Amino acid sequence: MPRPPKPRTVCHVPEYFVYGPKGKKANSLDRLNLMIDELETLRLIDYLGYTQEEAADQMKVARTTVQRIYNDARKKMATSLIDGKIIVIEGGEVALCEDNCEKCLEPLRLRRRQGRRNL
Ligand SMILES: [Zn+2]
Repeated sequence: MPRPPKPRTVCHVPEYFVYGPKGKKANSLDRLNLMIDELETLRLIDYLGYTQEEAADQMKVARTTVQRIYNDARKKMATSLIDGKIIVIEGGEVALCEDNCEKCLEPLRLRRRQGRRNL
């Protein structure tokens, strides 16, 4: 029996779950499902500037897993923008972070500060 996929730790749940082209009737448009873990890779890598390795550490999965999730997420976002599809954010194999997420980001911030000092 295949093992269920390892959950990806997610530190952020979006405030809004549906995005799409303005001025079009929503029910006339195709929908794309962006998973919560896919959004988390966009947040960590594109929004916060993490490397894929750092994002993998943060989400507690292998870098190759993050790379695959991230590629799927980018493809979906691009498809939505180019083809005018509605993005619905839901689902995914996720475990919501139970720590204080400010604390989750602190080791990386520290590493970055130290890295800069050593240049
Ligand atoms: Zn967290």
